[in-house]
Amino acid sequence: METDIFSDSSALLDALKKANASTIKHHGSNATLERAVFLSWWCGKGDCDFCYLSTQRHRIKDPAKARRRVSSVLAEVEILRGIGWRVEFLSSGYGSHSIEELQRIAQMVSYVSGDGVWLNVGVLSDEQLRAFGDEIAGVVASIETLDTELRKRVCPDKDLKKSVEMLIEAEKLGLKKGATIVLGLGEDESQIPALLDFVRSNNLDRVTVYSLNPHRGTPLGNHPPPASLYQAGVIALLRLNFPKLEIIGGTWIDQLPNIGIMLLAGANAITKYPLFSMFGNRYGRKVEEEVRYSNRQLLGTFSDMDVLAGRKKLPKNRDPRCVRKCMKPRIPGTIAEEVESMRGEIDDKIRSYVETVEKRAKKY
Ligand code: SF4
Repeated sequence: METDIFSDSSALLDALKKANASTIKHHGSNATLERAVFLSWWCGKGDCDFCYLSTQRHRIKDPAKARRRVSSVLAEVEILRGIGWRVEFLSSGYGSHSIEELQRIAQMVSYVSGDGVWLNVGVLSDEQLRAFGDEIAGVVASIETLDTELRKRVCPDKDLKKSVEMLIEAEKLGLKKGATIVLGLGEDESQIPALLDFVRSNNLDRVTVYSLNPHRGTPLGNHPPPASLYQAGVIALLRLNFPKLEIIGGTWIDQLPNIGIMLLAGANAITKYPLFSMFGNRYGRKVEEEVRYSNRQLLGTFSDMDVLAGRKKLPKNRDPRCVRKCMKPRIPGTIAEEVESMRGEIDDKIRSYVETVEKRAKKY
């Protein structure tokens, strides 16, 4: 299929139109809200040009202290479940937790969310992958870019070969496989065929297409995020080449107008938003408007304070756990007991998150 859709506006519009039709045909018209749940601010590599964690590495003296409390993670997951957002994946930098710790957290998150969890915690070996059980739905390889020269500069310690090996092992274990890419790192559309080849050769189930969020203090802190139509065009080409692929589009709070066009281009879900700064205020409502004008039905809510505070439940037709098939993982009873033993702490944290959101919603 032709990938040069950017030098001719009719080709781009045609690709968007066909991608939209393919998305509706194969996935229907629902759109979900996703959120990566962070476990730690530590990364043992800490040298990627676009990553916020790279600005923190020298400040963190004790990696163990950079971890989030498990009760805080679970409070966030419980809120996500209530408002109908999906946990996109559990995310951490390299070396923040042992495999045993990651498994325990994944089991607890899976118990609270009621769904299998994806992991995006760096490259995992065959042996490490085998340590996990039913709580894991899939693994994500952080690819970022397939431009070989650019990779050496922007994420010098991320070994693409090792990521591919992880995906191969994951497939053998029957796990789903995903990848993240970041647009706007300095690549251009000439890299799109390599991306399509990568998705094909690794038989990926899911791809997250982020736009660069230029973090202050990183070498890319002053780079512009990619054009909305470039991000949409990449998504459209993914959709046209892989009709059944799950595509998640990620933009930051300053790129909200990208949402509508990403959905028309074939994104099934959107991600990367600072939930607690945007929920219920003009930013959260803007997201909902973007979804509405792309003729998609939003699952979950970005604005209903009663749902957030637990005073009201989401209607079943807006709850992704009712609309989409969940994994229904088998979680050991001891994990359930462990979560419930933290109930007081989790509830306190939920109350504190809800209060923060309510204050911010009044401000904007
Ligand atoms: S390896 Fe991942 S977490 Fe670590 S600095 Fe790079 S992008 Fe950030």
